[in-house]
Amino acid sequence: MTADCLFCAIVSGDIPADVVHRDDDAVAFRDIDPKAPVHVLVIPTSHCATVVELAHQDPARVGHLLSVAGDVARAEGVAESGYRIVTNTGPSAGQSVHHVHFHVLGGRDLTWPPG
Ligand code: AMP
Repeated sequence: MTADCLFCAIVSGDIPADVVHRDDDAVAFRDIDPKAPVHVLVIPTSHCATVVELAHQDPARVGHLLSVAGDVARAEGVAESGYRIVTNTGPSAGQSVHHVHFHVLGGRDLTWPPG
């Protein structure tokens, strides 16, 4: 756990969240400001700032997070209709929380680029 990290505080339970999945290595919870009818964040339980750092340190952990993202999509009923998995890296991409997270978005038209 890293002091002053919002998502570490969600992992520890110090800050409440609407958790939809938890295991030893990952937590998934609903985004507080959803951009789609389904908007869940999937994060590792241990702190790491970016997905690429995590891929270098522990590639299996990245695979596990993506596996959980797929399970969440299925549980939320968007696996068949389709969904987007997004991870922002750095300020220009809009990363506002520096603890790895995959956004799982679904339940509306997400085709890109927009028609
Ligand atoms: P990003 O901007 O890619 O770093 O994504 C961070 C996400 O965390 C945003 O979509 C926020 O809405 C979301 N977020 C911030 N605080 C919370 C919180 N307390 N609980 C759930 N989601 C949050």
